[in-house]
Amino acid sequence: MTNPIRFQRVLLKVSGEALMGSQGFGIDVAVADRIAGDIAEARKLGVEVSVVIGGGNIFRGVAVASKGGDRVTGDHMGMLATVINALALRTSLTKLGVDTVVLSAIPMPEICESFSQRAALSHAGAGRVVIFAGGTGNPFFTTDSAAALRAAEMGAEALFKGTQVDGIYSEDPKKNPHAERYDQLTHDEVLQRGLAVMDVAAVALTRENRIPIVVFSIHQAGGFADILRGEGRATFVSD
Ligand code: UDP
Repeated sequence: MTNPIRFQRVLLKVSGEALMGSQGFGIDVAVADRIAGDIAEARKLGVEVSVVIGGGNIFRGVAVASKGGDRVTGDHMGMLATVINALALRTSLTKLGVDTVVLSAIPMPEICESFSQRAALSHAGAGRVVIFAGGTGNPFFTTDSAAALRAAEMGAEALFKGTQVDGIYSEDPKKNPHAERYDQLTHDEVLQRGLAVMDVAAVALTRENRIPIVVFSIHQAGGFADILRGEGRATFVSD
């Protein structure tokens, strides 16, 4: 007997870094295509998927601030970077025949639709993959916080956070091979232990809205759908 699908409506957070693959910067189209394939596979399971995409492969606001520039301007540049990535991911999904829409928190109507919760729910209800661009639309936030916010607004049953490794560890396992890996944690444990999986604001928002976080490797092809099927490897954060 096959396992029932674990969640019907999820939000996937893909960092900008995931899109650059082994390049040091920008977008590796082959990687974007592979991630799009993983999303298409989840859609075939009947799962409603929306996506928040980061921008760190192109620009982070702190890069401006750390060189004496204005942080707000830097964050505006970072938010624009997320729009570039959203258009790249939409292109990859469209090539696979997946109906996809980009909604930006910062209106740029010539390029994509503007975000509203109503529009997002309506597109998702029509079977489209919704990609949220522009983060929260505000400086001093991250796309992790945007992911928690959009997950709450969409009524997502889980926030899937695709990372470089296959779950949450006590320390960076790439630096310490003896770091402990967790299968299950509570939101409080993540916050109290200062585990670097998402920023504090994002974890607090998911805790308040009782949204589980599922941390898995974005580099494992098919991993997203495997977890939805109740297989695969991930750390589950829930209360
Ligand atoms: N950003 C912002 N407000 C937001 C989301 C993002 O100002 O709500 C900016 C910020 O400068 C950030 C950049 O966009 O550094 C890229 O986002 P993030 O670092 O979260 O991307 P990721 O690490 O996921 O690639």
